[in-house]
Amino acid sequence: MFKTNYVKHVYEDLVKKNSNEKEFLQAALEILESLEPYVEKHPELEKNKVLERFVEPERFVQFRVSWVDDRGEVQVNRGYRVQYNSCIGPYKGGLRFHPSVNASIIKFLGLEQVLKNSLTSLPMGGGKGGSDFDPKGKSDREVMAFCQAFMTELYRHIGADTDVPAGDIGVGGREVGYLYGQYKRIRNESVGVLTGKGLSFGGSLARTEATGYGLCYFTEEALKTMKEDSFKGKTVVVSGSGNVAIYACQKATQLGAKVVAMSDSNGFIYDENGINLDVVKDIKEVKRGRIKDYLLYVPSAKYQEGAKGIWQIPCDIALPCATQNELDLEDAKVLVKNGVMAVCEGANMPSTLEAAKYFIEHKVVYGPAKAANAGGVATSGLEMSQNSMRMNWSFDEVDQKLKEIMTNIFQNTYQTAVSLGNAYDTLAGANIAGFEKVAKAMLAQGIY
Ligand code: NDP
Repeated sequence: MFKTNYVKHVYEDLVKKNSNEKEFLQAALEILESLEPYVEKHPELEKNKVLERFVEPERFVQFRVSWVDDRGEVQVNRGYRVQYNSCIGPYKGGLRFHPSVNASIIKFLGLEQVLKNSLTSLPMGGGKGGSDFDPKGKSDREVMAFCQAFMTELYRHIGADTDVPAGDIGVGGREVGYLYGQYKRIRNESVGVLTGKGLSFGGSLARTEATGYGLCYFTEEALKTMKEDSFKGKTVVVSGSGNVAIYACQKATQLGAKVVAMSDSNGFIYDENGINLDVVKDIKEVKRGRIKDYLLYVPSAKYQEGAKGIWQIPCDIALPCATQNELDLEDAKVLVKNGVMAVCEGANMPSTLEAAKYFIEHKVVYGPAKAANAGGVATSGLEMSQNSMRMNWSFDEVDQKLKEIMTNIFQNTYQTAVSLGNAYDTLAGANIAGFEKVAKAMLAQGIY
């Protein structure tokens, strides 16, 4: 598995200390393995124990969140915030509300976020947080009560120049609004302490669209550079039907592709005529319903139970935008057999490491999450800039900056992969390009 003793020891030590955290170890293994060529050339990393410090979060906070539901019953959830690495800027990363959230998931997301934020070229460190609270089926009042209780603890750990959370699975505009309102109430200050805010209180135009749009800008640049091709005329499968999936579908369609399938955690829809996104938006953004309801609007479409079946659908481009480990080696083999030319990740770590390696081996254009979905946090960085300047940029200005950032992230990732001798190994390209800046900053700032 490892070629260098130093990296091997760092990973083995991590396994000893975090043996029950499988997602965290999976992300760490993927990163450490691909950093080996860089680490070999830089002995100062071992001398200063940079890898040991890089994998260990600066701070990990776990807290109780008690709130009262609509029946008057007290509910108790667990909240988390990991402040992973602040060497290139304030901690930055989303909050996830989903019943599966635990320390392992928060730490995997936090570690990935450190490299992702570095890749954006903006001055942002890495953090992540969330709770095992499930917003599904809760009333607006219950979601508000939970968010207020969550922020009543979180506020003491964050700040506009310290740590700036945003959304992720289960945390959209509604939740960010309630969280921001509670922070303001407690601190009596209006500052850019959260991103993804509503447009009337400091939010940025194009932040809602940014992750999905950015994913497509990255993919378009990758197709152009690596295959002399584009989205035009391609068949696309998008998993998920949340924020990232919806805007990936929108941009892919605008760029001339036909998106034929989308999913949620219950199953997927297939519409050979191309997904009607207005319908999906109505179901998911307005009614907070299930993707199956698409059939009520478009009876000619097909629905199948089980989210994973979506990878059986033949496509040119696959955009996994739901959740971690949703695409495994078996799915990768089917996609390659069906002639997929690009797989770019909107979700965080949606492909297992085996699946990612299979794509690379088979010369599929592969966009690893930390590079391909960095448009969300990059635009959050632009929201922070606007808040600091007390100014608002137009949609086009933000969208143009997003496009430039995604093009640069792809080129940086790709050129690093080329320099390593395999242009298709964008996994190593992204990890090394992101790590180099973090490692240099850590070395420059002394031992801490
Ligand atoms: P949303 O909550 O808006 O949507 C999540 C979507 O994924 C829903 O369709 C949900 O279905 C589906 N999903 C969740 N869990 C599973 C599962 N176990 N199996 C199948 N489908 C599932 O979240 P986002 O769109 O914001 O996030 C999606 C992914 O993108 C995550 O990995 C997130 O970390 C990543 N990401 C998000 C960014 C952002 O700006 N929002 C930025 C960068 C990455 P259901 O409704 O049934 O749960």
